Amino acid sequence: MPVPSARHHLVGGGIASLAAAVFLIRDAGVPGDTITIYEELDRPGGSLDGRTVGEDSYFTRGGRMFEPNFICTRDLLETIPMPGHEERNLWQDIEYFNLAVPGTSKCRLLRDGQKADMSLGLSAQDVFELNRLMLTSEAHLQGHTIGQHFSRGFFDSNFWIMWSTMFSFQPWHSAMEMRRYMRRFIHLLPGMAEIRGILRTRYNQYDSIVAPIVRWLRARGVRIETGRRVTDLRIDPVAGGREAKELMLDGAPPVTVGTEDRVYLTLGSMTDASTQGSNDTAPPVPGAAGGAWALWRRLAARHRDLGNPDVFSRDPAQTTWSSFTATMTSPAFFEYMEGLTGNWAGTGGLVTLAESGWMLSVVMFHQPHFVKQDPGHLVMWGFGLRGDRDGDHVRKPMWECTGDEVLAELIGQLRLTGTPKTALAEARVVTSRMPYITSQFMPRDRGDRPRVRPEGAKNFALMGQFVELPLDTVFTVEYSVRSARVAVHEMTGKAAPPPPVVREDRDPAVLLRAARALYGG
Ligand code: FAD
Repeated sequence: MPVPSARHHLVGGGIASLAAAVFLIRDAGVPGDTITIYEELDRPGGSLDGRTVGEDSYFTRGGRMFEPNFICTRDLLETIPMPGHEERNLWQDIEYFNLAVPGTSKCRLLRDGQKADMSLGLSAQDVFELNRLMLTSEAHLQGHTIGQHFSRGFFDSNFWIMWSTMFSFQPWHSAMEMRRYMRRFIHLLPGMAEIRGILRTRYNQYDSIVAPIVRWLRARGVRIETGRRVTDLRIDPVAGGREAKELMLDGAPPVTVGTEDRVYLTLGSMTDASTQGSNDTAPPVPGAAGGAWALWRRLAARHRDLGNPDVFSRDPAQTTWSSFTATMTSPAFFEYMEGLTGNWAGTGGLVTLAESGWMLSVVMFHQPHFVKQDPGHLVMWGFGLRGDRDGDHVRKPMWECTGDEVLAELIGQLRLTGTPKTALAEARVVTSRMPYITSQFMPRDRGDRPRVRPEGAKNFALMGQFVELPLDTVFTVEYSVRSARVAVHEMTGKAAPPPPVVREDRDPAVLLRAARALYGG
């Protein structure tokens, strides 16, 4: 049985901590009122965001794709009832929604503003290099970049354009992570151009996932302290290991951590220090990294086995991209895109403007995309994987542009005229510059990511995108939820460990289908 007076301190209010709180209550029998979540921002959810901005616009930094093998996420969401439809859980709602609004892209790429060839376009050399990477062990990929493993032509292929924009890879990113993605998502390769096999939530992920989980946790007495930054954690040696002793908070007295108490820390954050712009302002140049990176750096400086945050965060030029959310009152642009792509809004997914300097992609969301969305509003989202480069119509880097400039570039790329052009040009837009969004993908060596339960840790564990979970892939909700499950299992000894990562890469039929797809069959 858990010790009744033991307290559970969860640092960070992202999905890792929210999931850990659910698992503590559900699986380890921990009373909710012994759990406190500390979040430095004004609301929980972390990278899973979505909100109304003023009266006439909405904002999300991104849209998240799931798939059926996100088994830890599924297990989490099956616990939480859907607000307003209590007979249904959150995972069922995802399934119902995807049955009602099935997604298959008929237009993944645009060139010259028109539907383009969607074949993967890989040469025999490219396929050989992909296979070679998949068959190289991680031990031989320490510190390697993707660029080291492929010939130049590979990066011009449709495969790379689709792959990199779907998963946010750059040639300078980690070959190890690319290898994991190839293996983990190999069953999706035959449908990659059509984005088949992907699951989407009904609304943005704040409304569809975070808000219902927060409601469930609060109903069980969990305290969520927003606007509360954790600046340090004192960890002292004790007999047989190490113990967390004191949690330091910004602007509040330190919290004593007893031997029976537990601390769960989310390390780093892909959306830390991100900034926002509007129609007429560019997102400010991000300042110093926020609490997530500062805390990890402080801990890693004192404890060598707590990983190497600088590997991931030292060069924002290599880990930034920009996104924008546009709200329209006229349907003309949505109708234009539906005609162009052949997909009703919400059924197509990412459409990439393959020749754009910024490597722009857009998603026409199913409407409404926000629970509180005005019926007269339509909301779309887009991003530029190469926001560091000049646009083709607006000659500056995307991340320096105002929202109106971003729209002007999109209008130019799509060759828009008439009412679709007016609808887009008059949109309310919120832009976002995220300096660490691909930080998880920076080339790394063994040990740069710490273990969930570091050696000798008696009452603390680490979670999130920067701990090491063999076989699983970062830049996913699943990774953070799995890390929470491991942490709660290790710390309580009550909750079961997570189920193993599904090994589609060991299924000969899957491999055969993937090989056919790569060879253009
Ligand atoms: P975070 O969400 O980063 O949360 C950490 C939280 O902790 C933050 O709110 C931070 O403020 C807080 N915090 C950290 N340190 C401290 C401290 N010291 N004191 C107080 N507070 C602190 N995933 C998918 O599965 N599919 C997708 O298609 C997908 N697309 C994405 C697109 C975008 C644009 C983005 C941004 C993410 C996407 N992801 C996707 C990734 C997914 O959203 C993240 O992996 C996941 O949400 C990370 O959750 P987390 O809890 O580990 O960390």
